[in-house]
Amino acid sequence: MDVSRMSVAFQALKQQMLRRSPACRNDDRFVADELEAVDQREMAELCALCPLRAACAAYAAAERPAAGFWAGIKYPRPLGRPRKD
Ligand code: SF4
Repeated sequence: MDVSRMSVAFQALKQQMLRRSPACRNDDRFVADELEAVDQREMAELCALCPLRAACAAYAAAERPAAGFWAGIKYPRPLGRPRKD
């Protein structure tokens, strides 16, 4: 992992979260280990409309989170799958 890229991406996302509250805030599904397909579709729709999506996706791409739902994608990602972003 490139620590400097992670730090920059994290700081950018953090700054945006201080200005705007994303739809995922206080929604426990975004940190759940297991998700139903219907929830994932609904969450992806929320992410698609989120003004923080670009920063969120950049952060997730840099850090490759061990858990959670980031910018429309459930992490961790299965190995060997092509990236969507
Ligand atoms: S794009 Fe990121 S910040 Fe926005 S709702 Fe989805 S997970 Fe939350």
